[in-house]
Amino acid sequence: MPSLFAPTALLPEGWARNVRIDIGEDGTILAVTPDAILPLGERVERLAGPAVPGMANLHSHAFQRAMAGLAEKRRDPSDSFWTWREAMYRAAHGVGPDELSDIAGFLFIEMLKAGYTTVGEFHYLHNDAHGAPYADPAEMSARLIHASADIGIGLTVLPVLYMRAGFDNAPLEPAQRRFAADEERLLRILESLRWHGRDQTTLRVGLAPHSLRAVPVEIVRHIASVLPEDTTIHIHVAEQEREVEDCIAATGARPVELLMMEAPVGPSWCLIHATHVEHEELADIAASGAIAGLCPITEANLGDGVFPLGAFLTTGGRFGIGSDSNVALNPWEELRLLEYGQRLVHGRRCLSLPEDADGSVGGAIFRAALSGGAAALGQPVGVIAPGFRADLAVLDRLKLAQPDAEGDDILDSAIFGGSGLPVRDVMVAGIWRVRDGRHPGEEAARGRFVAALRRVAA
Ligand code: ZN
Repeated sequence: MPSLFAPTALLPEGWARNVRIDIGEDGTILAVTPDAILPLGERVERLAGPAVPGMANLHSHAFQRAMAGLAEKRRDPSDSFWTWREAMYRAAHGVGPDELSDIAGFLFIEMLKAGYTTVGEFHYLHNDAHGAPYADPAEMSARLIHASADIGIGLTVLPVLYMRAGFDNAPLEPAQRRFAADEERLLRILESLRWHGRDQTTLRVGLAPHSLRAVPVEIVRHIASVLPEDTTIHIHVAEQEREVEDCIAATGARPVELLMMEAPVGPSWCLIHATHVEHEELADIAASGAIAGLCPITEANLGDGVFPLGAFLTTGGRFGIGSDSNVALNPWEELRLLEYGQRLVHGRRCLSLPEDADGSVGGAIFRAALSGGAAALGQPVGVIAPGFRADLAVLDRLKLAQPDAEGDDILDSAIFGGSGLPVRDVMVAGIWRVRDGRHPGEEAARGRFVAALRRVAA
């Protein structure tokens, strides 16, 4: 593997200059040397801009990329998350194994170009159009694994448990049959994936009870108890106020409150959205070590609400970001919107910090999302340091609002200013996947993607 020489790089101890990064044959960082001298005659590659760790995208539903931009017409004055969900079910109906491969392949390139180097696929499209399992019950999950390996992005695949239509135990609606997976079927999927996942250093397999409305909390507790304690577990929770009301009506408790009470939530868990929470629930999430999975673009698109980030950070909470519905792929915009949502709610500025902290907001939220995202996906990423995977993004100074920025001004410029994606080169596990803003498989992947969209629409 080549050694890298970064004019400036974001290291765990802060920004450093003239950083030499040595990478092993397996794509792991062997050594990081700040204030190094660029050696003559040795095979060392000089990076073209500031280097930052690759970002984790902790929550994605790849197939939903097929409907990006198609759910923005008002059909009813009461359009909401719930009417959007109908459109999403229609899109899901047309996505078979080949369509999923082609959609995910192109989507993963879009993610890499934006600076994401690992993605968590919260994957619930398990069955065929009639609701029957494929011959290999893990067929659809395996398609995601193969697409990620072809494109070269890290993947934590999270097959989803999906058992009922609501808190009242109503059976699945016809449109939900493709998602159906009880505990037994899910364990079969996980078993099959162990085989598909052999020999991959960039793959992790976890699982995801869809939500408390789709999975009774006793089942969430049970499946967590039969798997190893460090299993990566994600769950949607408290995304919508109606979900909170239905949960209280059925169980007497709010969803986060119920989950924290009844399930062994710990540091390998990620609570997706957790938008509608009270202060005690925030403190409980923080105390458990679980990560809050925030998806600001999708949450805004769906009208979910605004997560109380400042209060959560003040209690010691950790978060990461996700592209969720994949209506837009841009971690910089996710972070910008995360902070702007807080500003619009509170009528103040610079809010995504613990109460007693000062300093760069961009610097703080970028570091927090790196660390929380890596923890949520259970992968050795998010840090440029020995022992971690060599996942990094090289920024394009000409795309920054302040091209001469140094230190955290680089991140503030990339997040709050500039135009277009500030990323030029992206490495995953020691291999350059994006060079000068381009992925070598892009043209072919786009062709297959467009054809797949036509089949889905038909
Ligand atoms: Zn989601």
